[in-house]
Amino acid sequence: MTPADDGPARRRVVIVGAGFAGIGCARELAGTDVDVTLIDRNNYHQFLPLLYQVATAQIASDDVGTPLRNQFRHDENVEVVQAEVVAVDPATRTVTTADGATYTGDFLVLATGARANFYRTPGADEHALPLYSLTDAERLRARIIEVFDAADRDPGLIDQGALTFVVVGGGATGVETAGGIADFVNRVAPEEYHDLHVHEARIHLVDHGHALLAPFSDKAHEYAAKVLQRDGVRLHLGTGVQEVTPTCVRLEGGTTLPSRCVIWAGGVQAGDLASRIALPRGRGGRVLAGHDLSVEGYPRVFVIGDVAGVESPEGGLYPQLGSVALQQGQWTAKNIRSDLAGQPRQAFHYHDKGIMAMIGRGAAVAEMGAKRHELHGAIAFSSWLGVHAWLMSGVRTRVDAFISWGWDYFSGNRSPGLIAHDSAQTVDWSQPAEIPVPRTPTPDSVPAS
Ligand SMILES: Cc1cc2nc3c(=O)[nH]c(=O)nc-3n(C[C@H](O)[C@H](O)[C@H](O)COP(=O)(O)OP(=O)(O)OC[C@H]3O[C@@H](n4cnc5c(N)ncnc54)[C@H](O)[C@@H]3O)c2cc1C
Repeated sequence: MTPADDGPARRRVVIVGAGFAGIGCARELAGTDVDVTLIDRNNYHQFLPLLYQVATAQIASDDVGTPLRNQFRHDENVEVVQAEVVAVDPATRTVTTADGATYTGDFLVLATGARANFYRTPGADEHALPLYSLTDAERLRARIIEVFDAADRDPGLIDQGALTFVVVGGGATGVETAGGIADFVNRVAPEEYHDLHVHEARIHLVDHGHALLAPFSDKAHEYAAKVLQRDGVRLHLGTGVQEVTPTCVRLEGGTTLPSRCVIWAGGVQAGDLASRIALPRGRGGRVLAGHDLSVEGYPRVFVIGDVAGVESPEGGLYPQLGSVALQQGQWTAKNIRSDLAGQPRQAFHYHDKGIMAMIGRGAAVAEMGAKRHELHGAIAFSSWLGVHAWLMSGVRTRVDAFISWGWDYFSGNRSPGLIAHDSAQTVDWSQPAEIPVPRTPTPDSVPAS
């Protein structure tokens, strides 16, 4: 907790990453007497909690990607740089970008987030689709539409796994994605693909744990399983994934699920850059930071959000959540301002609003506040909407399209999805499935008894 040395009147804060944490910090410093350089590989902020709505064609990409320059257009002290940071020198607080430019700050804030962790599962990084960026979500949406289009053109491809979706991971992202795909299959596809036997679609969710939504209560585990199964999702719990190939997923125990669309929601690790910085790292490659969110030995280097490993008062590291990242960003800005004012820093205190996950139309679980007051169903869905609208306003993402989606989704008025996409083929249909999918007879092909 060392205050900054005396020096020139105007100080510079370099922030790498414009997610919840980076934006939270930059917003809090906007309009103050420090200069801020905000660097991100994208020229937009991506609101990750709504990625699966983008992937399942419920919300347009524009509604979850907010242009950064526009966000800070009124803040003369905030400069936005679009660049990939490839190296960090914590001693001099200097970052180097892929094009060779360097940026040095009096303070350096690392907020580069997380990425999928495939846990070295053979074939997973090559053949499964992660969901950790807007690009990932657009790629998954294109794949979902590609397999539906292919099955519509040639129903024989259903045997080849064209309409079999496998979601790996039973945490919030996996459950929300499986629920979103079920909604696409049950409500959107029948309107868009008139001749396709959509009832032949299969959705599998695999997790090596024995319950969905592990951090929630037993009641929530059962509720999530009931809603997903009601919507046609087949659960494979207590089962790990051994291998992903271009045509199937192999599970422990010998089951093979033929599929051309495998979604990886199996866990996260700190982003690439973290592994290239010489700083102590903990579980999941997270860079360890102290209670004031700075790195031991480098008091003017802060690490926040998903990339950071900060011990919580309950023990263990703070969870990788948007609300934690946003509050850590805001807190870091306050500590920087305290340094500049010659005042002591404060240890980070998380205002816990609870945890929640959406499962499907009108169905969600929420455990509100630090005391985890439990809600299920429509009321949890409304709370989910409220908390996400609050998060969106924290990072200045447009709320109007989200609220209108939430209302239409809840009331059942949502019109079918947006299926415009580029027609590039990514599935190699010439490679046959090892084990064809058993076909379900269509209602009109079942002989009358
Ligand atoms: C599908 C999904 C659903 C989720 N749902 C919820 C939810 O409902 N509620 C909730 O609280 N949390 C949710 N989360 C978690 C939440 O989104 C994260 O905890 C939060 O985004 C972390 O914020 P961050 O700023 O640390 O990282 P991020 O939001 O990941 O931002 C990191 C930024 O750094 C940039 N970056 C990374 N590396 C570099 C580099 N080398 N050079 C330049 N820029 C770089 C990236 O482009 C990105 O903009 C969800 C996450 C996912 C993936």
